[in-house]
Amino acid sequence: MIDPRLDVIDKRLEPVGRIIPVSSAKGGVGKSVCAALLAQSFARQGYRTGLLDLDFQGASAHLLLDVELEFPEEESGIKPLRTGNLDFMSFAAFSRERAVPLRGSAVSQAMLELMAITIWDPLEILLIDMPPGIGDEIFDVLRYLRDPEFLVVTTPSSLVRHVVERLLAMLSELGVSMIGVIENMVRSDTDSQTAELASKYGTTVLGSIPFVEGIEDLLAAASRGKTLPDTLANTVRSVSARIASAGTNDNGPSSG
Ligand code: ADP
Repeated sequence: MIDPRLDVIDKRLEPVGRIIPVSSAKGGVGKSVCAALLAQSFARQGYRTGLLDLDFQGASAHLLLDVELEFPEEESGIKPLRTGNLDFMSFAAFSRERAVPLRGSAVSQAMLELMAITIWDPLEILLIDMPPGIGDEIFDVLRYLRDPEFLVVTTPSSLVRHVVERLLAMLSELGVSMIGVIENMVRSDTDSQTAELASKYGTTVLGSIPFVEGIEDLLAAASRGKTLPDTLANTVRSVSARIASAGTNDNGPSSG
């Protein structure tokens, strides 16, 4: 049976340019932090940017971006919340701080529902903070969203690398478009093998985000207009430039 929401989702995403899921096979590697840093960076450079938190069970992007979770405004659908110059949507806008113990296909249903009711204004870039894992969450995005371009977050830890390798192998087997790998929580003395890992799967490392004590507070402050420390800001800007230039017809930000 055909799910009518699929057509609705296509229509909802018509004003959206690039759809970029930020994923990692493992939780706790900084996927949400990287998605939030990149979203802020793109928005600051003048790209019309949205961030969609699909990590239903561990939704945290609103905390990182210091978004006040109001119930979204309704108008034949719901409008994203706005934080600074970023459009933001999260299941947390509805669940607030309640636990939402969704199982199996209920997660897919919740994602479909959220995608079908959210009315995005025109965006150049929609980043998606993905749930961890290499199961339904990835297949749902591949099935329901047009031309997703994956970013994969890893850390220098060999344990994380092993798990992330499974995600890279799967994405490459499926022929999914991959922009590249971001290495997060890098300390100056780290000797990682992330470059080798990326090239094994035909992709590259877009940059290494340093380990920065108190990064959550810095992100929240940046949402209120403060600037990030130089080394962090420069690295994120350089990663975002590489993501922008990976777009087939990037003409730079529309404003800013
Ligand atoms: P994930 O989305 O992959 O589960 P999070 O983005 O929630 O991971 O990050 C997990 C933890 O690691 C959080 O406490 C976050 O503040 C911390 N963290 C993430 N990236 C960094 C970083 N570059 N420097 C310092 N701490 C970080």
